[in-house]
Amino acid sequence: MLALAASRASAAEPSGEIAENDPDAVRIGYRRDASQIDKRTTPGYADGQTCMSCMLFNRKSGTSLGACEAINHRLVTEGGWCKVYVPAM
Ligand code: SF4
Repeated sequence: MLALAASRASAAEPSGEIAENDPDAVRIGYRRDASQIDKRTTPGYADGQTCMSCMLFNRKSGTSLGACEAINHRLVTEGGWCKVYVPAM
């Protein structure tokens, strides 16, 4: 358990945001900047989709980060995206 926590801490950005190469992020195809996604290689992505407009994003007050329900409430950035994206109603 301690080793798992240590490996997760080392893979995270200083802000607490999950790193793109973290195993949880890789599993869902997390990208921290949706504007850089190439639709030719990421066919599930559509213009305008970001974590900020995803139902699974729970903003952390006063930051651009939010807890993502798809990865056990680990932190992602509002401008990110992943293949689990669920449009907010
Ligand atoms: S599930 Fe939603 S909030 Fe979580 S990383 Fe994917 S797009 Fe962002």
